[in-house]
Amino acid sequence: MANLNNIYRQVIMDHYKNPRNKGITSKEGYIKCHIKNPSCGDMIDVESYVKDGVIEDIRHDGQGCSICCASASIMSEVVKGMKVDEAEYFLKNYLLMVSNQEYDESVDFDELQVFDGIKDFPARVRCASISSQALLSTLKKEN
Ligand code: ZN
Repeated sequence: MANLNNIYRQVIMDHYKNPRNKGITSKEGYIKCHIKNPSCGDMIDVESYVKDGVIEDIRHDGQGCSICCASASIMSEVVKGMKVDEAEYFLKNYLLMVSNQEYDESVDFDELQVFDGIKDFPARVRCASISSQALLSTLKKEN
């Protein structure tokens, strides 16, 4: 990732090597979505647990490249604890940002900001997107 600066690369490698919230629980109340990225071979499961309109837990598991695995790990940390509608807005704007479309720049993406640079690598945009797309669809099933 030639254009991603060092700090960004360190954050990605840290989450890739030490993923947070990894492992699917399949416990009652958890909603799961499986999503694939054929262009890169990424496969990921994302689970969410919502109580009283708040995302109390996010889990992920799967196989993929560093971008895919790191984005799932970072997303799980950043989005956990958000209200469902807040998370939906956050994730939609994140997906717009990585695909180089207009988005709400007032949203604080926290560590997910590292994927801002992915728009310069169109082939990898999907790697950085599938975990958020999967989480969004678990939230839709929630309603
Ligand atoms: Zn990938």
